[in-house]
Amino acid sequence: MRLSILQPQPQRCHHPIKRSPRMDASFHRRKDKVVVIMGATGSGKSRLSIDLATLFPFSEIINSDKMQVYRGLDITTNKIPLAQRRGVPHHLLGDVDPSLPEFSPADFRRRAGQLITDITRRDNLPIVVGGSNSFVHALLVQDFHPHSNVFNHHEGLISSELRYRCCFLWVDIAFPVLSQYLRDRVDDMLHSGMVDELAQFFDPDASRPTGSGLRKAIGVPEFDQFFNKYPPWAGPAGPGEGPLRERAYEEAVRAIKENTCELAERQMGKIERLKRAGWDLRRIDATEAFRVVVTSGSNNGSDVWERQVLEPSVKIVKRFLME
Ligand code: ATP
Repeated sequence: MRLSILQPQPQRCHHPIKRSPRMDASFHRRKDKVVVIMGATGSGKSRLSIDLATLFPFSEIINSDKMQVYRGLDITTNKIPLAQRRGVPHHLLGDVDPSLPEFSPADFRRRAGQLITDITRRDNLPIVVGGSNSFVHALLVQDFHPHSNVFNHHEGLISSELRYRCCFLWVDIAFPVLSQYLRDRVDDMLHSGMVDELAQFFDPDASRPTGSGLRKAIGVPEFDQFFNKYPPWAGPAGPGEGPLRERAYEEAVRAIKENTCELAERQMGKIERLKRAGWDLRRIDATEAFRVVVTSGSNNGSDVWERQVLEPSVKIVKRFLME
């Protein structure tokens, strides 16, 4: 895969960032502390979380992507594959039955809150990772109102009073670089079997313009339109259908790329609102690491990633753990 560089890499023998004894000495001081990794879709949050959990080996990851909480559509929703998790425990990643009613921010607050209690009881460090800012907000604020989506209202509604001591890492990427990366990533997902996955998920009775839960994942509505015209069980294109079918397919792919870039833009806007509301987000600029991958498609981004993303993140987390 061309873009594999921004997936967690296999552990290397000579990792430049060594665990220091102080990382272990801070172990007993972490009681109410939570690390939160934020950023738009595709910004390398999963890779950073695995890199950090490898260096701080008492970490457990809680997923906060509202589509990845469901079981199924692993390629379409970009769940980190088991092989890349390097044995780090993951929670709320593919755990929820998609046939149940939609998993809400209130559900996330309850389930992830319980997980944080359990993880800290084990003397481990919870790392919350995912792009759904309404989930992160619901989990962390002291006063949560289940029936109001703060992002739909004016700025004043976002509270900065949080119920944990949080260390926020915000992985940010200049939008033109991120959008090119996201478009290339869709092509990679298609090569990895996304259409077959969506074909198996297709349900002509369930497909409506606005589905709920996992049916909202980008890729599902776009390919539902395609499969409604060309059902997966209808076999190869019939006479004269080839070019039409090809155009419908290209249209679905174009819409997925467009909608993914729009999602990233919305997510960036929400993160900026949290920052303006007083959340202490530490911005890490990953633009250069991504630019190398987007322009050369090679593995050269890895060193830049370690220097510009991983090292500053490690410093921030170390300081946080020792506070
Ligand atoms: P909202 O205010 O809309 O709840 P949010 O920040 O909680 O925002 P987002 O993560 O922005 O949630 O997700 C909004 C929509 O983006 C989802 O309903 C879905 O259509 C799409 N989406 C989000 N994450 C994914 C994903 N991993 N795979 C596919 N589609 C996704």
